[in-house]
Amino acid sequence: MLKIPYLRNILLTAFFFAIAFPMYEVYYIFPAYQALLIEATERDALRFVRSVTIRNNLEKIELRADRIPESFIQDIVQLKNEGILVKLRVFSALGEIVFSTQADEVGTVNDKDYFRESVAKGHLYSELVHKESMTADGTATDLDLIETYVPVMLEGQFHGAMEIYSDITPELNSLRSNSRHSFSMLVTVSIGLLVMMFLVLLRARNSIVARTRAEVSLRGVNENLENRVEQRTHELSTANQLLASEISERKRAQHAQREAFVKTLEARDRVNAIISSVADALLVTDHHDSILLINPAAEKLFNVKASDVIGCRLPDVIGLDNLLLEVAKVRTELANSDSIDFDFIMSSDSSPGVYQCRASRLRETAVNGRGLILFIHDVTRERQIDQMKTEFVSMAAHELQTPLTMVLGYSELLLDHSKQFEPHERREFLQIINDKSVELSGLIDDILDLSRIEDGHGLKLTFTHVNLAALCQQVVADFEKVNTQHRFATEFTHSPVLVDADEARLIQVMENLLGNAVKYSPDGGLIRVVLKQEENWIRLDVIDQGIGMTDEERANAFERFYRADASNTAARGTGLGLSITKYIVDAHAGGIEIFSRKGKGTRLEIRLPLVR
Ligand code: ATP
Ligand code: MG
Repeated sequence: MLKIPYLRNILLTAFFFAIAFPMYEVYYIFPAYQALLIEATERDALRFVRSVTIRNNLEKIELRADRIPESFIQDIVQLKNEGILVKLRVFSALGEIVFSTQADEVGTVNDKDYFRESVAKGHLYSELVHKESMTADGTATDLDLIETYVPVMLEGQFHGAMEIYSDITPELNSLRSNSRHSFSMLVTVSIGLLVMMFLVLLRARNSIVARTRAEVSLRGVNENLENRVEQRTHELSTANQLLASEISERKRAQHAQREAFVKTLEARDRVNAIISSVADALLVTDHHDSILLINPAAEKLFNVKASDVIGCRLPDVIGLDNLLLEVAKVRTELANSDSIDFDFIMSSDSSPGVYQCRASRLRETAVNGRGLILFIHDVTRERQIDQMKTEFVSMAAHELQTPLTMVLGYSELLLDHSKQFEPHERREFLQIINDKSVELSGLIDDILDLSRIEDGHGLKLTFTHVNLAALCQQVVADFEKVNTQHRFATEFTHSPVLVDADEARLIQVMENLLGNAVKYSPDGGLIRVVLKQEENWIRLDVIDQGIGMTDEERANAFERFYRADASNTAARGTGLGLSITKYIVDAHAGGIEIFSRKGKGTRLEIRLPLVR
């Protein structure tokens, strides 16, 4: 309990009051009653002194031992005898005892301070004298009494005094007894209250201890709960973090998956775009010959729609026996090689021509099995060119051989039999040899030009300002001299028409065009050369009235080695002239076009940029 400050304070307060109540009795109540008793005794003494003083005229007499009235003495003696008075002394104004119930004291002077300082100055003075102690004047007593000095004043002057001993033993005993009684009562009550207080406080302490314990245990529970909440919060936060990281991991995975998916789609689109953009036909089949893939070029080639044929068998889609036969053949042969090439011909209306097919094995998978990839390339042109090249070789050999035979024949004739011939004949032979040599040289020049063009080096051109009108005039004049069977007409102004060109190559162009016009026109045919100046161009037309061309011939005329009628031995040539001509015109940033109808003649139109 003492450990609980609050209870300790209450207990100390209660203890203080338990001690204070009896002390109050001892140190306040009892002295207060004693003071009251003294006061009452003083009052009685005062009344008594007044009464005996007045009754015995003591004020009117000088207080001396011999002048004390007898009546006074008798009264006093009587009162003493009756036990009412214990002792009485009468003092003169000088403090001398002039009368005393104890006769031996008469004549003695009281010179004590209290007498001089207090009583002689008219003040009442009293003193409680306990049993077996000394009175104020130094005499011993066996009673409890109050010794009272009452001054007798006469017209304001100290006349004398009376000292009365009042026995208060019974009152004091009674007071003491009451006081003791009340003290014991108070002590009992205080102890009772203290015990009660102690018990109450003990109980309070127990309940406080219990409450404190409960609080401690509650705090413990609370702390435990808080710890658990904190721990749970930590667990939840950890779980939350794990969940968050798992979610972000999943999001990342999803993102990566989406990106991979997008990349796959892009790759698929790219592959599809590539497959769709391949100009050659592409067909993929599985090991059952069912079509897995067909690109737009193949759709066009076989005149089918992918949506209709995917999953169908190849023989059901393509009615080309020669192709199917080859496919069946390569399927077995592919066991030994990666790919096999073969040609096949299509004579259908949609895509006639010669095609080269490259058959490769499709990489084996569980789904596709041992499929085939057919890559079909249109080689019609290549084959035509091959054909033309073959023809060119035989023709070139023939073209070279004919003039060469003549050169050899005439030169041998001149060497062996020179003397048999007249000078003009020898000159004619030499002229023939020269003409044929020029022809051979031109032929070889054409072949060399073509070879330079073909190997990518191109022709070497030296550009100068050339007067095209003068150039045409000159070439036409040269042709007129040689080709007397044909008529030539020129239609252009003689004012200079300037182009930025290689002059020698422009002459070559004119010779080719005029050579063709002559070659493919009947004798007597008119050949017109028209030169016109347009806004930014110079237009040159070479017009003949010859055999003309079909549309197909016209379309192919610029192809190298192309000759409309290779069997026409009357019109000799290598089929290079127009292709070289077109190359030269293009190199001058110009253009060339053919306008022709079969049997109605031909117009070759050339445009060259004008120099201003
Ligand atoms: P080369 O010119 O090499 O000696 P070529 O004349 O046959 O031989 P090109 O000049 O390239 O060859 O002409 C190609 C083909 O075009 C000719 O073979 C011919 O069939 C046709 N051709 C060209 N010019 C005419 C024309 N003016 N009239 C009719 N056909 C022509
Ligand atoms: Mg020609």
